[in-house]
Amino acid sequence: MTLDAATVASCVDGKPFDEVTLRERIELLAASELGGRAPGSSGDLTARTLIAEQFRCLGLTPAGDGDGFDQAFDTARERTANVVGYIAGTDSTDVILIGAHHDHLGAHHPGANDNASGIVALLAIAQAIRQQPKAPPRTIAFVAFGAEEQGMVGSKFFAAHAPAALPTDHIVYDINLDMVGSYASRGAVYVMGTFPKLAARKLLDGIAKAHRRLDMGLGGRGERSDHEPFCALGIPYVFFWTPDDRCYHAPCDTAANVDVRHLAEIAKIATELVSGLANSDVDLAAARSSLGCSGVVARRGATAGTPRD
Ligand SMILES: [Zn+2]
Repeated sequence: MTLDAATVASCVDGKPFDEVTLRERIELLAASELGGRAPGSSGDLTARTLIAEQFRCLGLTPAGDGDGFDQAFDTARERTANVVGYIAGTDSTDVILIGAHHDHLGAHHPGANDNASGIVALLAIAQAIRQQPKAPPRTIAFVAFGAEEQGMVGSKFFAAHAPAALPTDHIVYDINLDMVGSYASRGAVYVMGTFPKLAARKLLDGIAKAHRRLDMGLGGRGERSDHEPFCALGIPYVFFWTPDDRCYHAPCDTAANVDVRHLAEIAKIATELVSGLANSDVDLAAARSSLGCSGVVARRGATAGTPRD
């Protein structure tokens, strides 16, 4: 597939955080025709097609099976896929991975906040990065994971079968966006996994100062989402999440109920973080091996339970 330069330009130009565009994209993914995007359903396929079209239009390099964006895998019952593309770094083998799950629960569950919001943020971040005058030194990978709601099946598959261009050994950070459209529910966004010694925390402390209107809860361990299979490999993560006290896994998780204004600002913050990490002078590979995903210095040569003399 060759890229039409004019099409790429039309995708890349424009405002990545435009609230009207963000809402339109959420409406598309959460439309009743997509039937709640259950893995293996026709709605799941339509969602993946929309994401891949946008990846192609943005000029991301495909890293799925063959020369496509889809990385197929099987759940217990169905075949679905992760959608994988990247912007190659100019001067490093390190990879910053940014992910969001595209699937949801099926009929009567639009899944606008969970997790069309994360997908739309992911696409906005990709567009904003493409608008920067030059590609960063580190590679940035964009992954829309499948079958998260069935137990993180897609992210576990990716962590076990990473594409050749994006080996897990080279992934120095995982940024996870899961439910980022319900800031208004509690007036807060949680930004988890940002333990004090880790590179992302230092960047976010600075970014938070420039976004004072947003209440950001930094730190704490995030659970039950797609960063977990990466953390299990010792890869540090940042998990963006807004709690949804009203419509979590409920039929009222509709596009109309998404807090797009704050979603746009969260996507901007995530862009600044991804860009900061991709351009950072810190040796992120060394930090990953010494600090893992918890920010606690690994005790070399010491094994738990070994008696000391
Ligand atoms: Zn979710």
